Amino acid sequence: MPTDADDALRSRLAAAFPVGVVSCDPVDRVLLGTDGSKIRGNAFAVVKPTDEDHVRTAILFAGANGLSVVPRGAGTSPTGSATARRRQIVLDFSRMNRILDVSPRDMVAVVEPGVMCGELQSRAEAVGMFYPPDPASARTSTLGGNVATCAGGLRAAKYGVTRDYVLGLRCVGADGRVFETGGRSLKSVVGYDLTRLLTGSEGTLAVFTRLTLRLLPKPPHAATLLAEFADDQGGFAAADAILAAGVLPRALEYMDRDVLGIVAGDPTPRSGSSLLIEVDGSPADCRDQAERVAAAVRSIGALSVRIADAGDDRDALWAARRSISSAVYRVFGAKRSEDLGVPRGRLAEAVAAIKAASRACGARCVVYGHAGDANLHFNFPYDPAVDGAKAAVDAAVDAAMAVALRFGGTVSGEHGIGLKKIDQVRRETDARALELMQHVKRAFDPAGILNPGKAIPE
Ligand SMILES: Cc1cc2nc3c(=O)[nH]c(=O)nc-3n(C[C@H](O)[C@H](O)[C@H](O)COP(=O)(O)OP(=O)(O)OC[C@H]3O[C@@H](n4cnc5c(N)ncnc54)[C@H](O)[C@@H]3O)c2cc1C
Repeated sequence: MPTDADDALRSRLAAAFPVGVVSCDPVDRVLLGTDGSKIRGNAFAVVKPTDEDHVRTAILFAGANGLSVVPRGAGTSPTGSATARRRQIVLDFSRMNRILDVSPRDMVAVVEPGVMCGELQSRAEAVGMFYPPDPASARTSTLGGNVATCAGGLRAAKYGVTRDYVLGLRCVGADGRVFETGGRSLKSVVGYDLTRLLTGSEGTLAVFTRLTLRLLPKPPHAATLLAEFADDQGGFAAADAILAAGVLPRALEYMDRDVLGIVAGDPTPRSGSSLLIEVDGSPADCRDQAERVAAAVRSIGALSVRIADAGDDRDALWAARRSISSAVYRVFGAKRSEDLGVPRGRLAEAVAAIKAASRACGARCVVYGHAGDANLHFNFPYDPAVDGAKAAVDAAVDAAMAVALRFGGTVSGEHGIGLKKIDQVRRETDARALELMQHVKRAFDPAGILNPGKAIPE
């Protein structure tokens, strides 16, 4: 229950900033305290910094008054990593959204954390450069959030994940002091790699106020292929055949036929799979790679192969892939979604085992995602109105995670831990390694001011 003391503290917080920076409005506190996980948040207050000083003031205020802070980009986290509760101040970065520099010669961009990933992609492309990380949420998620979660995405098969493009960070620490890691050099091996440590730390070690990101020259051309197979395993065999043919596509997206049926509005279970493949390079390179890809997938019995190398035609091939997540909600009403990873060579076997384990629990499991780096999205749809459906799905998710771990995999390939998977960390992480992580957390944030309770069990 809110108390007079809380209201007095909120007034002091608001007084520490210029007008309009702090919101104590109950609706804002719920909306901006809740993220894509749909775990209902209810923050103590929301601070919308426009500069680094505001970030420092908020962190120092939290530390001095028994509160903590939860940095927030766009709130698309599916794990609750940006969920804020009663004694937590949300630091909403939506107003620190300037692109400060895009330098083709240095091959870097410098941005504030609230810039949308898609906006940097477009700005880089306008000067012939390329920001490769491409989470499916690129248009709706921020670079600060992408760095804090080490977002993966659709081009990771060839270009890697966000971590591979973070050169330097400017941060505010839990004691309010500003520090910088890395810089503008494309290589540096001086000291411990704090940039890499902070990337993926879910706002638990430091709050970013400026990011220096690596750019590549823009590939001049891209071509997209869609291949269909009669069974669930065909898409995986095709990915192997393409790599064996010496082609490394930038995207290798698997979709089982169940998810394609769901996108078309028909939830009837069916077998079969598709693989969406995208290659890039010069137009001649793309033609050559596309021919080799088509030959490889035909050699393992593709039912059909479609090739598109113009923008609109390529978008049409991507359309189904991009609408899967929302279609599953639309058709079933509810789902759990897990982004499990396994060693590449065991992907087909692991997916078959996870589907079998789900059936044994009385739940359905439909699968799509990044076959190139063996990080798939396992969706467990259910009708919330049916008694026992949610319990069956919870059991299936637990069994799926056990399978991924048994195959030497991971419970989260790219979405992170947040609140939702905090109980899974011990299941996957070596006990001594976890102890060292806990020491790291205490070294950065001894009083637990920065997004406590997320990323690792404390
Ligand atoms: C439709 C959809 C598709 C998606 N596709 C992908 C995908 O392909 N690949 C993928 O990896 N993820 C994907 N995601 C998940 C999500 O978009 C990513 O995790 C994204 O990186 C979160 O960015 P955000 O700006 O929304 O951050 P938020 O959700 O606001 O925050 C995420 C984490 O970042 C921290 N954070 C935010 N800003 C800062 C800062 N300035 N300093 C320190 N910490 C900070 C927060 O505290 C939190 O821990 C998808 C989500 C949706 C809804």
